[in-house]
Amino acid sequence: MTKDAITAAITEQGCADVGAVKTCTKAGTGCGSCLPLLKQLLAESGVAMSKALCEHFTQSRQELFDIIRVQGIRSFSELVASHGTGRGCDICKPAVASILASIGGGQHILDGEQATLQDTNDHMLANLQRNGTYSVVPRVPGGEITPEKLIVLGEVARDFNLYTKITGGQRIDLFGARVELLPAIWRRLVDAGFESGHAYGKALRTVKSCVGTTWCRYGVQDSVGMAIGLELRYRGLRAPHKVKAAVSGCARECAEARNKDVGVIATENGWNLYVAGNGGFKPRHADLFAADLDSGSLIRHIDRFLMFYIRTADRLQRTSNWLESLDGGLDHLRDVIVEDSLGLCAELDEAMERHVGNYSDEWAGVLEDPDRLRRFTSFVNAPDTPDPSIEFVTERGQPVPGPSLIAGPSLEVRT
Ligand code: SF4
Repeated sequence: MTKDAITAAITEQGCADVGAVKTCTKAGTGCGSCLPLLKQLLAESGVAMSKALCEHFTQSRQELFDIIRVQGIRSFSELVASHGTGRGCDICKPAVASILASIGGGQHILDGEQATLQDTNDHMLANLQRNGTYSVVPRVPGGEITPEKLIVLGEVARDFNLYTKITGGQRIDLFGARVELLPAIWRRLVDAGFESGHAYGKALRTVKSCVGTTWCRYGVQDSVGMAIGLELRYRGLRAPHKVKAAVSGCARECAEARNKDVGVIATENGWNLYVAGNGGFKPRHADLFAADLDSGSLIRHIDRFLMFYIRTADRLQRTSNWLESLDGGLDHLRDVIVEDSLGLCAELDEAMERHVGNYSDEWAGVLEDPDRLRRFTSFVNAPDTPDPSIEFVTERGQPVPGPSLIAGPSLEVRT
């Protein structure tokens, strides 16, 4: 799909919003990475963009976040009854579920009405793969793992016949788990001290690190210790989109922190903080936000950066697009976070402390609750029956999807 074809759909065929452009051109119906570009082309063509989250809410995500926070709303039903219309859709339900989870309160995301709002992956606390099985990603904070835990991962993969691959975020992904096996796999992992890695969520994923002063001759700070501290602080934090971070132990930057939403690079005097980088469809190097911070200041700045992003970004907007759309850009962000120009910092600090205090492992929470466990079946009327259509073949000594797939490279999208 070319830019000219999309522009023609807007200017000649009258497409006036992203949904219409998607229907007309099929752009944005694959991985969705080009959706920000569609918005940009609509704006460049002079189309006034609605701030409405979807047909059920006239408010933007940011406005809904404030409504939920200020009015203490705790459910989608309450919100749609008081501020929306209809019964919700696949756009507003996960967005509101994410806001409710970000604001916190200790409710498990699979409890009560919350469970019905979740996206496909959150719904099973695992990532759906192309043959209908799921992948399992336990958290490995900072990428540091003991031999004993490595052995457990190997044993679990062997015993459940799972494909294993090391991820870019320095952890180990276990692929090919049938839905009914997820609780048994996680029972083994939780008993060995693992917890959810939130690879399925719009949430903090990983904090990657190099070995820093622990091993490296060039290191000037303990990058592993800092990465583990950050990952344990922000684990489970739900956001408008996924959040990745990294810590490098010196300017050589082996952890590639500058292509992360939050990047930390050690200096002789402390830490440099970079924000709003990412790889993906449109790579962006992170911007230097503050230099030579001590550890406490670094964490305080990241707390506020993440909470301000969570409060004010659009649905599915990474920190890079958010910063580029922010009035006043990086200078404004510094004013808000460092100078407290909006008088928000105490609230942002409190929100992060609440998140840290309320954290609990989602998978441990499933295993202890028979109601939550009941969803992990292929057939509700035959809970012990595995899906017979799932097949595997062997490739390079590991099981991979066979010929029966649930989806090709593109899915039909609701218009
Ligand atoms: S970033 Fe620096 S400290 Fe870290 S591994 Fe590379 S050279 Fe060593």
